[in-house]
Amino acid sequence: MQEAPEFITKLIREYYRNAANIAPAAIEQREFGFGNYEKKISQRHFAFGSEKELKGYLVKNAPPYVSYSAAYYRYPDARPMETKEWHGAELIFDLDSTELNLPCQKEHGSIWVCKDCLQGIKDETIKLIEDFLIPDFGFSEQEISINFSGNRGYHLHITKPSVLKLSADARKEISNYISGMGMDFSEFFPTSGTRGAKLVGPKPDDAGWGGKIARSFVASLEKGPEKLASLGIDLPTAKKLYAKRALIELGIKGGNWDMVYIKKKTEFWKRISDKQAIMQSDMIDKSVTGDTSRLIRLPGTIHGETGLIAKKIGSLEELKKFDPMKDAIAFRNGEGTVEVESAMGFQMNGRTFGPYKHEHVRLPTYAAVYLILKGVAKVPSKHQQAPA
Ligand SMILES: [Zn+2]
Repeated sequence: MQEAPEFITKLIREYYRNAANIAPAAIEQREFGFGNYEKKISQRHFAFGSEKELKGYLVKNAPPYVSYSAAYYRYPDARPMETKEWHGAELIFDLDSTELNLPCQKEHGSIWVCKDCLQGIKDETIKLIEDFLIPDFGFSEQEISINFSGNRGYHLHITKPSVLKLSADARKEISNYISGMGMDFSEFFPTSGTRGAKLVGPKPDDAGWGGKIARSFVASLEKGPEKLASLGIDLPTAKKLYAKRALIELGIKGGNWDMVYIKKKTEFWKRISDKQAIMQSDMIDKSVTGDTSRLIRLPGTIHGETGLIAKKIGSLEELKKFDPMKDAIAFRNGEGTVEVESAMGFQMNGRTFGPYKHEHVRLPTYAAVYLILKGVAKVPSKHQQAPA
């Protein structure tokens, strides 16, 4: 989309006029970037000395995308980058539902986001916090700030002082660890190379990846043969494992992975472990985590592809209850008629809309804006009133 209808620009302007607490911590050390409907960051190297200055800019320009640097600089508006004087950067994790490769995505494509996508990426975000960031890296909940991206994912910012100076390489190592890259199977199964030896492996209460592999396999085992088959296990073997699940679980609890006969057991368990690592953690955009001068959506601002707020979420507990299609709605007032080309059914603010096909529909403003910005609806060309 080249330009949004004028009424959306007005809504965005009004939103910023009323917005409170929109400035990030240390605003004067942050670089800002803004986007248009063609490009999410079309200009960067902006700096603002105060919330009032930032707000003034947002009200004047009503940009559809607002980003800021995870980094702190002495001269955030200097260019080229080297002259900004980097003082450190928050550690960022960018989780996007398109990386989940869910079956629904084949049906609705990559622009549309359905409730399965939103639930799936929320589950992964919770898992990243609960299974990795807190137990393996020792971050406290207070050091992890959680933000809805405004469209189809979540951004986590680690603000702990000790991570701020981490190099790009150290950041890449962290994301590699989380995605299980370079994981050495023999480390978790120390007897795997020894002929005739009992296969000793990780226990569910082990720290780090070993424990995750054990817990995740036990969880799959309890879910049944089909879940096991999704790990790449052939169905007869999956059924055999499921039938003997009580025995296998008992073994794994004590670190014995040899309770049932498996042909080529070492290769078998290695494959299963690798597969689980991928399923647990392939959705982090590593290029974001590894980039120390990345611009990322400013919490509290509007996302130009949805009209939703890139909303800051107060806690892990709040994240578990968070429904973006309800809690991140910006334009709650008014309604209007739009001409929908084609839209799947969707839920917003607890209401179900659509599916629609080549029709004029009267909708609450937030739903009309959502469809227009997703590129599936427009303001009717004549004889119709624009939403207001
Ligand atoms: Zn979906």
